[in-house]
Amino acid sequence: MTHQPLPPGSTLGILGGGQLGRMLSQAASRLGFDVIVLDPQPDCPAARVSKRQITAAYDDAEALLALGQASDVVTFEFENVPARSVELLEQGGALVAPGARALAIAQDRVEEKTFLNSVGATTADFAAITTVADLAPALETLGLPALLKTRREGYDGKGQVWIRDAADAEAAFASIGQRPAVLEAAARFTRELSVIAARGHDGSLAVYPFGENSHENSILKTTIAPASVDDGTQARAVQIATAILNGLDYVGVIGIELFDMGGGQLLVNEIAPRVHNTGHWTQDGCACDQFEQHIRAITGWPLGSAEAHSRIEMTNLLGEEVNQWPTLAADPSAHLHLYGKHDIRSGRKMAHVNRVLGRL
Ligand code: AMP
Repeated sequence: MTHQPLPPGSTLGILGGGQLGRMLSQAASRLGFDVIVLDPQPDCPAARVSKRQITAAYDDAEALLALGQASDVVTFEFENVPARSVELLEQGGALVAPGARALAIAQDRVEEKTFLNSVGATTADFAAITTVADLAPALETLGLPALLKTRREGYDGKGQVWIRDAADAEAAFASIGQRPAVLEAAARFTRELSVIAARGHDGSLAVYPFGENSHENSILKTTIAPASVDDGTQARAVQIATAILNGLDYVGVIGIELFDMGGGQLLVNEIAPRVHNTGHWTQDGCACDQFEQHIRAITGWPLGSAEAHSRIEMTNLLGEEVNQWPTLAADPSAHLHLYGKHDIRSGRKMAHVNRVLGRL
């Protein structure tokens, strides 16, 4: 695709107005762009730092046409955007990045794993599960324990359940609503890593160093980055990111979650076609963070440097933990990023703090 860089003053549309949309909007405004956010929730976190909000459902045809008409390029902060919505945005005259194909693949775990393996980005062994009858032969092949995940709309460990005994398979399938699913072999990883990478309209690439992630109750708690990895593993990550981005003809930032199997072997767990929680460390660890990088990519600007200047520990503040802000604000090594969410709910991502562990 030939694409002239969008000049400052152009308008960007963002579908979704949570914290990722808010931080994308802040990065866009630093580069001189105006942002319109579409989100059903009035006064959403992103809208309060943007030029305008269109308050509407993500499948509201009129609203999508209006957003497409008002925007030079439209992007997303989440991957479960209906395919029809992308069509309507394009009909409204906007460029949509990343494109419909990347979204379609990331929305369906079977499509995603099939694509990943086809470009050499190996995943855990898996089997598609459509009916309860598919479970026994799949368990036979994959072994126990195995992880059953809904094909669509799972996140933060939702819609997934371990099967430890073949006798529990039917109950497990019932517990995820007997929805189309994927059964995965257990990956016996030593740690969880992620890579944030970007691709521009011209095919240029930028790959950030690894983050090492730890979860609590299936929700990301901390990322330490750059993680210490040997050169071979780092090179393999660049290879995986390159294969995925080129294979999708991708434009924008992508998050790639990996299992470190030891001995230089990496398996891809999943990809997120958007800026990613495990990339928040880049805000205080890199000259060009993942949010600015995404804006640069989708507007046809040259990509920024993905090099890290500092080692960072990022910690998510969930629910009431956000009330620690006065102490954190008094700590000179802590960079606080608050999302401006009105309601504190248990487990809700309210803020994160990037702590500088040292200069590189
Ligand atoms: P996901 O929703 O796919 O990101 O999975 C959430 C978490 O479940 C991951 O971060 C892992 O800790 C764990 N997990 C997912 N898939 C597997 C697997 N095949 N084997 C072992 N653990 C897994």
